[in-house]
Amino acid sequence: MYLTGEDIFHNWPYRWFGVWTEPGSADTKWPLRTQLTDSKWKFQGKKHLIKYLRSARIVLCSGSFHIHCNLCHQDIGDPGCWQSDNVWLWPCSLAHYVEKHHIRLPDKMLYHIVNNQFIPPTDITVGYDDLPWPDFDLYD
Ligand SMILES: [Zn+2]
Repeated sequence: MYLTGEDIFHNWPYRWFGVWTEPGSADTKWPLRTQLTDSKWKFQGKKHLIKYLRSARIVLCSGSFHIHCNLCHQDIGDPGCWQSDNVWLWPCSLAHYVEKHHIRLPDKMLYHIVNNQFIPPTDITVGYDDLPWPDFDLYD
């Protein structure tokens, strides 16, 4: 159901990004993390990109206990925390996976961030319900 290979980056159809399952999971609702990983991806402005992802406005936090990265065990914060730049929506842990574990962003998300000159908007002008939330009930 998800695109494979490079297509998943070139033709990602959503405006949310950063939800995946781990290889071996029975949950087929989300793409596999390994499908979104590209260790050959070289992006010159990656440092700025990570800063952008980290500094965008938080639009939701759950107040949950922090969780640890399943790959390196670093504290990655509240698992119910989401950030947005009015167009894209991502979990707060995404920056960690981009920085440490070769998660590659969809082309359109990357272009949008570059167009914003790596400076996220200071205000969220999109209503909470109008943010591009993933459909968590999609295949239940
Ligand atoms: Zn990690």
